[in-house]
Amino acid sequence: MGAGFGGIAVAAELLRHGLDDVTLLEAAPELGGTWFHNRYPGAACDVPSHLYSYSFAQPPSWPRLFSRRDEILRYARETADALGVTPRVVPDTTVTSCTWDEESRTWTVRGRRGGRAEERVADAVVLATGQLDKPAFPALEGLADFAGHSFHSARWDQDYDLRGKRVAVIGTGASAAQLVPEIAPLVDHLTVFQRTGNWFLPRPDRPVPAALDRALRLPWARRLWRRFLYHGIELITLCIRHPRTVGRVGALLSAAHMRCQLPDPELRRKAWPDYPFGCKRVLLSSDFLPALRRPNVELVTEPITRMTREGPITEDGRLHAVDCVIHATGFRTNTFMLPMAVRGRGGRSIEEAWARGARAHLGIMVPGFPSLFLMYGPNTNTSGGSVLFFLEAQAAYVRRALQLARRAGASALDVRPEVEEAGVEAVRARFSGTAWQSCSSWYRTPDGRDVANWPGYMGEYADRTREPEPADFRFLRPQAG
Ligand code: NAP
Repeated sequence: MGAGFGGIAVAAELLRHGLDDVTLLEAAPELGGTWFHNRYPGAACDVPSHLYSYSFAQPPSWPRLFSRRDEILRYARETADALGVTPRVVPDTTVTSCTWDEESRTWTVRGRRGGRAEERVADAVVLATGQLDKPAFPALEGLADFAGHSFHSARWDQDYDLRGKRVAVIGTGASAAQLVPEIAPLVDHLTVFQRTGNWFLPRPDRPVPAALDRALRLPWARRLWRRFLYHGIELITLCIRHPRTVGRVGALLSAAHMRCQLPDPELRRKAWPDYPFGCKRVLLSSDFLPALRRPNVELVTEPITRMTREGPITEDGRLHAVDCVIHATGFRTNTFMLPMAVRGRGGRSIEEAWARGARAHLGIMVPGFPSLFLMYGPNTNTSGGSVLFFLEAQAAYVRRALQLARRAGASALDVRPEVEEAGVEAVRARFSGTAWQSCSSWYRTPDGRDVANWPGYMGEYADRTREPEPADFRFLRPQAG
């Protein structure tokens, strides 16, 4: 389920290894996942293009060092075409339930395509619906009372003309940091509502220099460049893991960048973060802070108390009358509620299994849900790396696990609860002392459990997932008769 980068990775991996009875059910009209949905102005990736791409599908050339949304979507389409994935995508199909059948050792997948109900039977199910798919709106009193136009950054209204309008952007996360500089020159007035400031580092985005582009056409040079970028971005994780030492250097570099970009002390004071470097996502942007200095842009840090017909009212009693409100308020993430009902062995739902918070063995398998795999599951997000690296590791793990079951003559495999428990506890323990634990963020549950991020380096995740360990599983044989 899901034909974004996770679904494409796993389908490509299975097909390349001769497991070719693969179907991708996608709710959207086409593949691409988050890059299909997010089309706000300035949508781009803050991970360098040569790393935000599959190791097994390296294009000979990227136009920019940091690709824009259209370029990334084109890459996803071309990769899926080249690897034979596209014909297996069934678009416009919303899966409503996945139910394990103990007798046949299969999953029944129900959904709707157009107005028609559909049912399929599968030996294995991969949920690749992502962590950042369900837009979150602020829980504000009177939200529905607003009489102007409003939409979420991840569901951009391309028919609405922002030119000459008074616009409010709520939120200053990674999406807002990209869209604010793009819309600021168009609108009459822009009010940016910030609840929490962010740490920024520059994003040195530009067309790939011709000499570098030529050099990177050589496969060995490309591999070397990817290695260089890989170790470069691991430095962010190094800072997060060691907030009192290397993290301070990261904070100093960020502070220097921010000071240069915000010469006005008052604006700087308002935009400054009040938590350690790396606790929330460090934003790579060279144009968000300068956009706040524009005469038609105001940064408001007074909390919004409620929404009215005319616009938001802040705690100081001020009404911010606007024509349009853009919610750049992120996604419903840390409950990991999947967009379909999932029932495993004994009719147990995934919500019941996750009553103590979302959790999975290596972020991939949940005990009691045989041959059901998660891509980008709990504790596999990265705030300092490339998520594609994790997706590739997960895709290989899924394929190897299925091959393991086949070799063992089993119909399915179920991860042992004690293995999952020990693994999850070890992962949670690794957060201790890191910057992630020093503030609240979408990486954590409100009661402080770290459920979204991987606590270490990308290489560690690749090592842990390299080979599924047979002793970690119960193998379910076909039922007699
Ligand atoms: P986000 O990082 O969760 O940011 C949401 C913003 O909305 C935050 O500033 C948050 O403030 C604010 N907010 C939420 N509720 C609010 C309320 N009631 N009143 C005022 N402000 C409110 O969401 P996002 O920017 O869409 O990014 C989500 C994730 O998507 C990122 O962390 C990243 O993983 C991914 N992303 C990646 C890229 C990329 O270039 N690779 C680009 C965009 C997004 P608080 O900080 O106080 O909660």
